[in-house]
Amino acid sequence: MNTALVAGTAVDTRHWIGGRRVASADTFEDLSPIDGRPIARIARGGPEEADAAVAAAKAAFPAWAATPPADRARLLRAIADGVEKRLEELAIVETTDNGALIRSHRRGVMPRVAHNFRFFADYLEHELGHPDFETRGHRNHVTWDPAGVCALISPWNAPLMLATWKVAPALAAGNTVVLKPSEWSPLSASLLADIAADAGLPDGVLNVVQGIGEEAGAALVAHPDVRRISFTGSVPTAKVIARAAAANLTPLSLELGGKSPFVVFADADLDLAVANAVEQYDNAGQVCLSGTRLYVEESIRDEFVRRFLERAGQLKQGDPRDEATDIGPSIHPDHVSRVDGFVQRAKQAGAKVLLGGGPNTDLGGLYYRPTLFTDVDPHSEIATEEVFGPVLVLHTFRDEDEVVAAANDSAFGLAAMLFTGDPERAGRVAARLVAGTVWTNCFFVRDLRAPFGGARQSGIGREGGTWSFDFYCEVKNTVFAPAGWRS
Ligand code: NAD
Repeated sequence: MNTALVAGTAVDTRHWIGGRRVASADTFEDLSPIDGRPIARIARGGPEEADAAVAAAKAAFPAWAATPPADRARLLRAIADGVEKRLEELAIVETTDNGALIRSHRRGVMPRVAHNFRFFADYLEHELGHPDFETRGHRNHVTWDPAGVCALISPWNAPLMLATWKVAPALAAGNTVVLKPSEWSPLSASLLADIAADAGLPDGVLNVVQGIGEEAGAALVAHPDVRRISFTGSVPTAKVIARAAAANLTPLSLELGGKSPFVVFADADLDLAVANAVEQYDNAGQVCLSGTRLYVEESIRDEFVRRFLERAGQLKQGDPRDEATDIGPSIHPDHVSRVDGFVQRAKQAGAKVLLGGGPNTDLGGLYYRPTLFTDVDPHSEIATEEVFGPVLVLHTFRDEDEVVAAANDSAFGLAAMLFTGDPERAGRVAARLVAGTVWTNCFFVRDLRAPFGGARQSGIGREGGTWSFDFYCEVKNTVFAPAGWRS
């Protein structure tokens, strides 16, 4: 009743509050996107559980904040070791829960989860400087003091990766946290609680509240004892959370959606550009960064399309547990309906389908075919709104000015990809694009020292390196007068 056996791993389905497993009177059903079947019933938290978790985190805060950085770093590294030890279990549970490819969980995502803890442990110990400087003989001493209890709300598309991107820096900085994972992918957060407890993290430092966003999540972000809210998810939810944060003036960090432009100039290495363009279907298009607006220079349009369709045609769609699979299912039947709604409305509006255009009925309703539209009105719904499925639109352009204007004509600004054989053009065009990250002749190269986040409606704030510590801390300046100084 309190555990679910998922692909051979026992996962506790209760909350983790103050170092104890806590049940709720009510539960909700968790489905596997692989076949749409129920895999667990999860504790359905609300205001009571949010209150208890915030109280536990608040009680644990003074001791954790006072723990020397080297000891905090050692515990974070022990969590990283625990993640590595249980990597295969984490990979298979996450794949079963959210449908993303086992091969990327094994070789990319779960190693990065461990790295998130090691990186912020190292950063705390070795990189976070204490820049002292003088003002008329007075010494300014800057410190990063932990802020307090942090509410961390994460989405389902990369559950443990995105949750630990928040948990690791928040804990490194000396905060205590309450994590609320998505109700569509709640399992890996529960395993993280086990791993942190095994690593020796003190009770109450990390708490996990399970539940529905509008219930557990809403109670958490409205809590007056929460000192930071870090949210990754959609723009509509962010607006609701921002209103709750406003009531208490709680600082918040928002990592939101996108509709990133993917620009290919005629002088680009076309094979490289096509290979990267097809990668935009990764995780069945459920990637915030995905370059879903393809802009291809007019003179190479036909050749680009020919090679794109050839390459995309080779993608193998199927069970994400199979190492040979390239595209797995979408997260949930409701999400498939949402994606298909966008696609059907685009067709009705006259957009031309070059690839896909509906669910892969051979595999059941949850597997959506990689889809490419052309002849799309640049201001139509399909060309401007985040679909969060394997759906790309293709536009053409004639020169730099035209493509920069089109790429920047968006409510979002998360990322931009740009392919050209001319390094000067790469620098010139990248400088004109509005985006938190611009990748030139590449995609998805990430370094935790670099800032990550979105411009415009793609977010507020940046995560990574110093930017994470700036957010999770009260950055303080202490001014020391020189000996014998009189005003
Ligand atoms: P979502 O906004 O529906 O939910 C995100 C989280 O918020 C979930 O845990 C949910 O339970 C919770 N939530 C929902 N309502 C809430 C409320 N009223 N109060 C508090 N919490 C609430 O997003 P999703 O569908 O889980 O994720 C997909 C979205 O996330 C896409 O828009 C995607 O682009 C975005 N995303 C952004 C990034 C990034 O780094 N910028 C990364 C991944 C996903």
